[in-house]
Order: sequence, then structure tokens, then C-alpha cells
Amino acid sequence: MSHEDAPNCERHEASVQMQLRTLHSDQSRPDTVVGLYECPECGYERRLPIRTGDAAA
Ligand SMILES: [Zn+2]
Repeated sequence: MSHEDAPNCERHEASVQMQLRTLHSDQSRPDTVVGLYECPECGYERRLPIRTGDAAA
């Protein structure tokens, strides 16, 4: 999984890319995982759904 899709933290004027910490599977959406991103500067956490598509049969 690429880290290039990591979002930028909204709390800084400069672009601070958030780091992917953990992934959570969503039982209601087998093809989607939720990534927990954390800003290395301020610790702001944000969850974003990540569509994997690999599990699609
Ligand atoms: Zn931040």
C-alpha cells in the first residue's frame, strides 16, 4: 500500500503530510479499510477510508 496518498494536516499553513498509523477493517464494507492517519507535528488524528479493491471477487 502506497503512502503517497497520505493527506496533509489541516492545522498547518505549510504542507505537513500525515503518517499512516494503523488500518482498521470495516465489517460492513469488506472491500474497504479505514486508515488512521496521525500528524507527526501536532498529533492530529484523522480517519480516511481506503478502498483496496484487491478483495473483490
Ligand atoms: Zn498537524
